[in-house]
Amino acid sequence: MKIICIGRNYADHAKELNNAVPTQPVIFCKPDTALLDNNEPFYYPSFTTNLHYELELVLKINKQGKNIAEKFAHRYYNQITVGIDFTARDIQDQVKEKGLPWERAKCFDNSAVVGTFVELDSLTNASNIEFQLHKNNTLVQHGFSQNMLFNFDKIIAEISTFITLRTGDLIYTGTPAGVGAVAIGDVLVGILEGKELLNFEIK
Ligand code: ZN
Repeated sequence: MKIICIGRNYADHAKELNNAVPTQPVIFCKPDTALLDNNEPFYYPSFTTNLHYELELVLKINKQGKNIAEKFAHRYYNQITVGIDFTARDIQDQVKEKGLPWERAKCFDNSAVVGTFVELDSLTNASNIEFQLHKNNTLVQHGFSQNMLFNFDKIIAEISTFITLRTGDLIYTGTPAGVGAVAIGDVLVGILEGKELLNFEIK
């Protein structure tokens, strides 16, 4: 199983980090050791002092594919949830400045938190999925899938041009505006179309 992430997929988030809006999807990967599921607590790592949440819609791939055409891409996923792409923003700022890869900032253990998957077919508004992150009962991120610069099918087509997708792979589809820092003791709750799919504590 691998974890593939899209960066800067919402214009409002690209702007809040002073990044240009991309003309093709920004792609990066996390190792399988990054996965944190079942609402297990997240332990704040010692190497950062500016750990940020990024709430994202996460797709689960359900069959193997390579060079998938955009019009057939919907056949390769049928489950979705919300997840957190944890980012050590202080380290990311340093490596971005030097033009170095993002692994130290984004690929550490438990940096890919994933909620409970639901069937895409079960959603009432699958063409514009609403999702929210609450931190300590305060709404901090509120996204709609229609605001993605590259939609699910475009993302699958683009990734599979370079990387074979396999059953069980996870695709993090980018975060809307509102990213911010977490502290020990915070509780993060992720909601997709009114359903709580993620609820865990920072320890
Ligand atoms: Zn992200």
